Amino acid sequence: MTTLLRRLVPHLVPDDPHQMLRMRRTLMATGSGLVLTTVVITAMLAGMVEMPVPNFLLLYTLIWLGNVSFPLMISYDINLLFKDPSLTISQLIWHTLTNTISIYLVPELHTVFLMHYLLVVLFGAFRMQRKGFFIIGGVIISCYAIVMALLFWEGRYPIQLKQEILSAAVFLFMLMGVSIIGTEISSLRWALKRRNSELNIVMKQAKEQAITDDLTGLFNRRHLMDILRRQQALTVRGDYCFTLCFVDLDHFKQVNDNFGHKAGDEVLQTFSDIARNAVREVDFVARLGGEEFVLVLVRTDLNGAYHVAERLRKSMEKARLDILGGHRVTASIGIAQYRKKETIEETMHRADIAVYAAKNRGRNQIVTEDDLSSTILSSLHDDADLYTTPE
Ligand code: GH3
Ligand code: MG
Ligand code: MG
Repeated sequence: MTTLLRRLVPHLVPDDPHQMLRMRRTLMATGSGLVLTTVVITAMLAGMVEMPVPNFLLLYTLIWLGNVSFPLMISYDINLLFKDPSLTISQLIWHTLTNTISIYLVPELHTVFLMHYLLVVLFGAFRMQRKGFFIIGGVIISCYAIVMALLFWEGRYPIQLKQEILSAAVFLFMLMGVSIIGTEISSLRWALKRRNSELNIVMKQAKEQAITDDLTGLFNRRHLMDILRRQQALTVRGDYCFTLCFVDLDHFKQVNDNFGHKAGDEVLQTFSDIARNAVREVDFVARLGGEEFVLVLVRTDLNGAYHVAERLRKSMEKARLDILGGHRVTASIGIAQYRKKETIEETMHRADIAVYAAKNRGRNQIVTEDDLSSTILSSLHDDADLYTTPE
């Protein structure tokens, strides 16, 4: 339905859902204005309106210029310039005025138009708060009092005072009732809106928590697997490649043993910041667990990944860690590029072996999968240099 309308009258169907909602409500109000005009024209044809035809036509042209100005303002986004883009109060006042004109033109039907006032107030439930209902209630009562006084003064309609006072009292009572119900509906809507936005924030936080590691704010292992599956899917389509860098901090157990677990945590956070800065926006950094991390380098081959890894290794090597009294912690890095049709686990396994090889070669270095064959044969190095002393 919306699609069909959009094709027929593109300007009446805004793309923005908020504008669409405003447009729908405004068109509902315009529709009720149309019913009102039809009633008055029917009365005119039945000879119940005393106004000369040209004046009547002019008056209703002006009224309809006003009626269509609201949807037009929304379709051209002019309403967004106002504090209340729904233009609630101005629309309600406008429809109250046109309804009052109808009473003036066809006083015999004034009870019918009184009911229309109530409909106008109900429209306020979409947006208004208590103050708005007071304003619109006041405007309606004033308009009605003025038009009745005018009719009485002009003697155009034989007003029976007792009957009028009684029906005015009933109308006032109904107006109050509708306003109270409107205020209730409105406050329920506001409460719901507030709840929704709170819920959205909580949902966003929960989503973020589900994919990030609490300590470092990097992606967690579960999300890493999702990222890798998506990367794998991309390689199916064409000349796409990605490379994994497995990073394991060297002798980290001793950091905890010598400086405490809290200091260890801080080192992990510092490393995470360094890693985040070493990669591009499009790449991903995740914590596999403990002091093990993974960089997912998008559209990058072994050679490119080596440069990133070397930048990271050097930054870590240079970083003086205050919490360790200026000592440094190094990292060993293993690199493997995803090969088409293999499983993610196979790539991860090769990167893991490469880290293992880097450890064997003496730590604080990078081994790519291409270096593996020679490294696997090499013997374990001496683990002597635990921390490089500050220069
Ligand atoms: P290697 O150079 O061979 O990697 O030695 P390592 O000591 O880093 O390796 P190992 O795997 O033996 O020790 C990892 C240590 O990391 C064990 C544990 O104390 C520490 N660790 C794991 N998770 C955390 C954590 O969340 N916070 C802190 N502070 N330490 C952690
Ligand atoms: Mg480890
Ligand atoms: Mg380690």
